[in-house]
Amino acid sequence: MSICLAVDIGGTKMAAALVDCTSQRIIDRHQIVTPKSQQPEIFSAALASLLTPFIASADFVAIASTGIINNGILTALNPANLGGLNRFELVDDVQRITNLPTYAMNDAQAAAWYEFISLTPNNNTHNMLFITISTGIGGGLVLNQQLQTGARGISGHIGHTVVNANGPVCGCGRQGCIEKLASGTAIGELGSALFKHPYNGHQVYQLALDGNKDAISIIHSSAAAVAELIANLTISLDLDAVVIGGSVGLAPHYCKYIQQYLNEKPELYRPRIISAQAGGDAGLLGAAHWFARQESHT
Ligand SMILES: [Zn+2]
Repeated sequence: MSICLAVDIGGTKMAAALVDCTSQRIIDRHQIVTPKSQQPEIFSAALASLLTPFIASADFVAIASTGIINNGILTALNPANLGGLNRFELVDDVQRITNLPTYAMNDAQAAAWYEFISLTPNNNTHNMLFITISTGIGGGLVLNQQLQTGARGISGHIGHTVVNANGPVCGCGRQGCIEKLASGTAIGELGSALFKHPYNGHQVYQLALDGNKDAISIIHSSAAAVAELIANLTISLDLDAVVIGGSVGLAPHYCKYIQQYLNEKPELYRPRIISAQAGGDAGLLGAAHWFARQESHT
């Protein structure tokens, strides 16, 4: 029986869990708040305190992390998101802490893989896109039933596809990325500008649920932009299914709105839309499952 020490590194929290690779069950789990300081030494010390209690029970480490993972090094399309952690040698650092074989992938890619393997067995899904609409917008692609991580770790970073070439400048350097127009952060910014009051995305969404027409139209324009993205990627990649996750993606009515906008398009642009099922541990479980396959070949 192989035991994986799975690690999920996000902007607000970091979780570690022992995962039984045979049953795909979490045996033990702990999480801490991601250090506010983005100094590499402080981040590394936090990782060590999180991982140390689990090391003796684990055979290998599988990390799902925010950002781009290229040859074990953490970077970001928007370097401001990582601050002092840009170009952090994540795999080397965790290997030094644990002395275990260590692998790393992007967190949305890991979640995409777990959503894919959680689809009904013997399904006919070959090409699946996972979209998480939350603080930002991320994703993961499964093509021919294989997760695409990309030679440079970039595959699935759909938040930085352009939906309005005249839109606001994004941290990645382009103008009008969907993340800048439809994410939870964008919903908060649009609401704050419209209502002349500082709101976050959650508060604007609540105003919409309470019936405020302006807030409802902000949520609708987000869902419409996501529907356009889904249609574009469906016709490019022949998607069978799109799984929607994230705090905005799973908020009341959001998936239904996406479906409504897709229903206005010809049938070829309309894949099956599914709400994410795996919940908050999809990154941990997806990374454990994906890298258990590699570990079994070594
Ligand atoms: Zn961008």
